[in-house]
Amino acid sequence: MTKHKNLSIFVPHAGCPNQCSFCDQRSISGTQNPPSAQEVAALCNEFLPQENSADYEIAFFGGSFTAIDREYMTSLLSAAYPFVQNGRAAGIRISTRPDCISTEILDILKQYGVTSIELGAQSMQDEVLVANLRGHTEADVVKAAGLIKQYGFSLGLQMMTGLYGQKDYMEYALDTAHKFVDLKPDTVRIYPTVTLKNTLLEQKFLRGEYTPPTLEQTVEICAVLMGIFESSNIRIIKMGLHADTGLEDKIVAGPYHPAFRELCISRRCLERIKEQLTNAENNGYIIKVNPKELSQWKGQKNSNIKILADMGYAVQITADISVPKGQFTID
Ligand code: SF4
Repeated sequence: MTKHKNLSIFVPHAGCPNQCSFCDQRSISGTQNPPSAQEVAALCNEFLPQENSADYEIAFFGGSFTAIDREYMTSLLSAAYPFVQNGRAAGIRISTRPDCISTEILDILKQYGVTSIELGAQSMQDEVLVANLRGHTEADVVKAAGLIKQYGFSLGLQMMTGLYGQKDYMEYALDTAHKFVDLKPDTVRIYPTVTLKNTLLEQKFLRGEYTPPTLEQTVEICAVLMGIFESSNIRIIKMGLHADTGLEDKIVAGPYHPAFRELCISRRCLERIKEQLTNAENNGYIIKVNPKELSQWKGQKNSNIKILADMGYAVQITADISVPKGQFTID
């Protein structure tokens, strides 16, 4: 499968009228400079390949692209669109809030070569959206997702796990994931909630009103989510927070790990092995996997082998070039 690449351009949403519980945008607004149209054109010119760039997208990320000043938004799109027209990029990707999508906005995005739209849905339970001051509803997500698909854009949905107000972190994550599957997105991103300095969530955490899930619980939840999205052929393009410079200094609490996705992939491998062992009767198994994936099947520091041993299974995991990636055999 072709690996998609993004030329990412950060558009800070300094004027965001919302104040989501977990977001520190307000405290950092003013410290990030929004790019000018000229800068966007220069970046595209410098970093996009001259040819064969069908797998490249110009990605405006940073939150709510369609909620920024309209004239500014179209100036950025006007700067990027010529690179789609001349074939140096396959399209333009943007992310925005579910309540900032309308037919009028979609008409504009279509006109300027936007191909993919990601919605920051975060949760599909109104009570959780309200508790985190998101300012939109589950119905907004459903409506926006439907319109985006109707217009023929690629649809991306972003969700968060471990949000404040979720009575059972696993149950709420599964509910959101199943509702996502019903909306038939092309891609999803999964972000574990991390408590950042200068946020409402930090206050709740310090007052003891919010107890984030542990890293272990979050890895377990996300491994299950991976299975749900994989079985529905929905591509997961991100799991875990992007390790920005300075991010770790801003974290007060929560399940942050720089190699979060790898931890989840390993856990998913473990679950897949466990499903097979449950039905097997003998002991002393040899599991063969593709050499490129050996470490993820074994787990960090052989953790998967140790967990299986604790469950009473003596397992060896070995590399075998004849096993296709993503698969395994058990003898
Ligand atoms: S997360 Fe919420 S507060 Fe932060 S930029 Fe997005 S909409 Fe605004």
